[in-house]
Amino acid sequence: MTNLDLVLLGMPGTGKGTQAKILKEKYGIPHISTGELFREAITKKTVLGVKVADFLREGKLVPDEIVNNVVLERLKENDCRKGFLLDGYPRTVEQAKALDEALSSGGKKVKVLSVQLDEEEVLRRLSGRRICEKCGKEYNIFYVRPKVSGICDACGGKLIQRDDDKNETIKKRLEVYWAQTSPLIEYYKKKGILFTVNGSGSVTEVSERLFKVIGEK
Ligand code: AMP
Repeated sequence: MTNLDLVLLGMPGTGKGTQAKILKEKYGIPHISTGELFREAITKKTVLGVKVADFLREGKLVPDEIVNNVVLERLKENDCRKGFLLDGYPRTVEQAKALDEALSSGGKKVKVLSVQLDEEEVLRRLSGRRICEKCGKEYNIFYVRPKVSGICDACGGKLIQRDDDKNETIKKRLEVYWAQTSPLIEYYKKKGILFTVNGSGSVTEVSERLFKVIGEK
């Protein structure tokens, strides 16, 4: 099989992270989520974590130079030879250009999957999202409620709201999306590598749509 080099694009809250985990399992490719990498670095208080913490808390983008370094180094690792799935990167045209340049030497052909959902639905998904602080399992107070309010079904851990899922930060993240990330749709459309997928409906419905598009030439 040829390499499967995928980029998942979409507003925060479109379910990219959930779909990425499914795609990773199905295709056996590494899932590289810049948001997760940063959150992990912040928890571990690494040098990177200290540098990026304020940006995440305020819902602002981490500067391109920092993000590009992290991702382009990660892509050099052996497990990315057979393909990769980028989730949350690129988020600016500058980042997209850096990625193009890094991949052009390897002759890699990327498929960009744009998951689309209207903003009202995105707001419900983000503001309703709760995460188990122990095992990371995700819930939503509107759609996927735990059996006992505030407690994880799987491990009994406490369900918390991500700092950047709080209302003010959500507003900022959406503003940032429209100003800096949405131009990427046009950027990739022009290159002829953009595939649009409807993000509404159940997790399985969206995965099926993604599988279909990934399978297309
Ligand atoms: P996410 O989990 O993808 O929504 O990312 C959470 C936060 O991490 C974002 O609000 C940004 O502060 C930061 N972040 C993640 N990916 C990027 C990126 N590609 N460029 C800049 N900042 C990013």
